[in-house]
Formats: sequence, C-alpha cells, structure tokens
Amino acid sequence: MLSKNISEKLVSSSWIRAMFEQGEKLRKIYGADKVFDFSLGNPDLEPPQGTKNALKKLVLDDDPGLHKYMNNAGFADVREKIAANIQRDTCITMTGKNIIMTCGAAGGLNVVLKTILNPGEEVIVFSPFFVEYVSYIDNHGGKTVISPCDITTFEPDLSDLEKRINASTKAIILNSPNNPTGVIYSEEKLNEIAQLLEAKEEEYKTNILVISDEPYTKLVYDGAKVPSVLKVFKNSVIVNSYSKSLALPGERIGYIAVNNSIDDADSLISGLIYSNRILGFVNAPGLFQKVIAESLDEIVDINVYKERRDILYNHLYKLGFTCVKPQGAFYLFPKALIDDDIEFVKHALKYNVLLVPGTGFGCPGYFRLSYSVNLATIVNSLPLFEAIAKDFK
Ligand code: PLP
Repeated sequence: MLSKNISEKLVSSSWIRAMFEQGEKLRKIYGADKVFDFSLGNPDLEPPQGTKNALKKLVLDDDPGLHKYMNNAGFADVREKIAANIQRDTCITMTGKNIIMTCGAAGGLNVVLKTILNPGEEVIVFSPFFVEYVSYIDNHGGKTVISPCDITTFEPDLSDLEKRINASTKAIILNSPNNPTGVIYSEEKLNEIAQLLEAKEEEYKTNILVISDEPYTKLVYDGAKVPSVLKVFKNSVIVNSYSKSLALPGERIGYIAVNNSIDDADSLISGLIYSNRILGFVNAPGLFQKVIAESLDEIVDINVYKERRDILYNHLYKLGFTCVKPQGAFYLFPKALIDDDIEFVKHALKYNVLLVPGTGFGCPGYFRLSYSVNLATIVNSLPLFEAIAKDFK
C-alpha cells in the first residue's frame, strides 16, 4: 500500500525519532529519573500566564464566528496586529495583507516551498540544519543543496555558498538562532550573503528567495539581538511560530510575513494563501490565532533556559569539549570526542544519556543536546558527562 518514497523514508527515519524511541525503552527499564534524555526539542516550560489567561477568556467568550471558516490567510485583525508588531520591531512597513497565518513554522515552510518551487529547482540549506527541511523541499519537487557552515563559527561560509548558487537556485533557507547550534547570524554575515545573492541574481537573471525560519528568534540570551532579515534581503519572507517562544508546539500556530520590497509581493501573497488552502491546512487554528494576538509581547521565562545553558556549557567546556557558546535557542552542538559521532552517541547511551549525532543534522563529528529538560536532569547528568569524557581520554 505504501508509496516507494514513503517506504524508503520510513527506513531512514530521523535520528531524533530513533533516540526518542530508545529513550522510551530505557525509561521503562530504569525509570524516568535514571534516563537523561537530551534528544528532543520539545519545550518543557508551560506557556506564559498571559497566554493561558487569553485562552481561558476566549474559550468562555461568546464571540460569534470564532469557530467558523475564515479567509485562508487568517483573521484580519490578528494579521494586522502581527504586522504592527513586526513594524514596531524592525521599522519595516508591514500591514495585515503581508501576513498569512499558518499551522506552525513547519506548515509555513511547506506553504512557501509549495508556492515557489518548479520541479528540480534548488533550495540551499546550511549544514548543520533542521533535518525536516530536506523532506519539505522534497515534498514540493525541489532539490536540497547543502552548503556546510564555517565550523569555527557555525555561520554560513560565503566561499562555499558562492559555489552552490546557479541558474536553478530558487531559495535559501536561513535559520537563526539556529537549530542545532544556537548561533545567531551576525548582521555583517547577512549583508555579505545579500551582496552575493544580488550579484548571482544579476548574473543568472533570476530571483532567489530568502526564507528565514525563525521559531527561536525570541529565545536569546545575554542581550543578544537577532538582525532583521527583512531589512537586509529584498527578496525575503519570514516563517515564524509560537511553538518555542510561547511553548505552544502542540497548537500548530505561526505565520509567514512577506517583504513588501519583493517586486511581485502581491502575487506571491496570493500564491501563499492558495497553497495554505490546497495543502489541506485550509487556515491556521482559529482559536489560537486569537490567543496569540493577545500575547504578542509574552514570552516563556528565558532565564530558565539561560541557567541550563550556562550549567551545561560551562561543564562541557571544563571537560574539554569544543563548542560554540550558543546565543539563542535551547541546544548545544559540541564536537564529539571521537570522529565517529554515531559511535560517540552510542557510547553515551551506556550511561543512559541520550544525545543526537551531528550526522542527523548533516554535520558528522558533532552531537546535539537539547537543554529543554528540567534542571534536576541536567544537574544529575553532570557526573555522567564527566565519566563519558574520561572514557575518551
Ligand atoms: N524550524 C526549526 C529550525 C525547528 O527547530 C522547528 C521545530 O523544532 C521547526 C521549524 C518547526 O516548528 P513548528 O513546531 O512551529 O512547526
């Protein structure tokens, strides 16, 4: 019954999922408190109180029309509020018409790719990358082209990127703060990429869309700022969600924001709204559109994540791990203590420590750990990391 494509994909299913299943097994054998599962990017914090209050109020409201079909782009008042919020933060002119509400960032990425890709057109992603990009690009007949980051900074490597762009390049996906490295791309780096893209667009007489996947944009530490992609790239869209900033991943709510400076922005917007419909999303969940419109300035307590980052990063650093200190998101991406990251991750399993090999993000030799786990798990895992490090001395 299964298609060839899906049967093959099931066999090579993601490392994160494999680790999750391994974790389930270990929890059954040893008990949850004896398993140190750093494999998942599932926010363990609860949504902010303001968000919960907005939800409670809306559920009890008799606001007519809340649960009906709507414009496929979403409620007009919600889109206006999001646009005003973006304009306030970036000084870029935005109105509700530039916003399409989506089923999370994953839904938004699929809507954008469906709208722009012709068969065989190429989308550049920077490794390490969120592994689902490859499936999303494949969903819409595109081809993933991988450009490895500069491993000293985990920012895009311009000389490599230059070699990957050709007449078939339709888009590049940026993800900053990044999953899995936590790195925020500097404004300088973004400007360099913009110059390169402009030159290549001129050379090939093409337009290359910058898709900025930003679910972690509010999870930043030490006063770090995430430069506005809309300001830097003429041909750009933001794909964002509230999965991480409001800890609402199960509610599937996000948006696409289209830069007005795109030449045919209006037809792109019409295409995106159409794709949202025909991909079967129809529209983003109505109740949660209204909830987020009431909580645009809410955020989970990022100090909780910062404390965990500091404990883990400092400990791993002392043990001799090499790791770029993350400025955002909730992941660390250290170098494994042996070349074979899969072997390294398997070794950690002997201590009931669950990590994800860098291979799963297109970057062998490293591993990812998510610090979206409670403090006790982190503190109790510290001697285990010490033991793991000793085994490789
Ligand atoms: N993009 C990145 C980089 C992610 O890490 C995730 C989720 O972990 C997503 C997109 C999907 O986010 P959402 O749950 O909002 O669809």
